Amino acid sequence: MRTPGKIVCVGRNYRAHAAELGHAMPASPLLFLKPPSAVIGDGDTIVLPAASRQVEHEGEIGVVIGSRLSGGGEAAARAAVAGITCVNDVTARDLQHADVQWTRAKGFDTFCPMGPRLLAVGPGDDLTSLEVICRVNGVVRQRGRAADMAFAIPALLAFIANVMTLEPGDLVATGTPAGVGPLEDGDTVEVEIPGVGTLRNPVRASRR
Ligand code: MG
Repeated sequence: MRTPGKIVCVGRNYRAHAAELGHAMPASPLLFLKPPSAVIGDGDTIVLPAASRQVEHEGEIGVVIGSRLSGGGEAAARAAVAGITCVNDVTARDLQHADVQWTRAKGFDTFCPMGPRLLAVGPGDDLTSLEVICRVNGVVRQRGRAADMAFAIPALLAFIANVMTLEPGDLVATGTPAGVGPLEDGDTVEVEIPGVGTLRNPVRASRR
């Protein structure tokens, strides 16, 4: 997979996760961006920055765009999907709470592991049956199903495409289910989507 030109993320798309952070559900999808410079691949190291004391995993279903999408409705959005991959929306939770917006908390280098491969999907494939599981050191921390999203994948993509044009290769991270928690030096974190594979990354403290 090539590095996405942009990474559009969705906050609070699962009710149980919004509740665990003490938030109400948004009336429309809550969007933010991660920089492409945060992307790493399967097996690469997540570096815990010295600026944060609370870095957390967010296992997510990632949607990779296959054809240019600008405006339009859910049918056009669904047709623009190239495939599905695993994403870890790594987050400095303390900095997310400290800042008005989330650019720093979500944007450190190595904070967007994605992979290990793209599962190509056709127009007839069912996206609501996708599941995502996140483990730390082999222990399950998160488990979510696309069927439990507040805004389903075609609706999310259509909402985004009416804000900004989505280009081939762009990545949409569709939100994380409940169970987010800390990553520590020496951990190994995995995000699995059955049928796609397992994205596995070691975690190390920064030497800076
Ligand atoms: Mg997230």
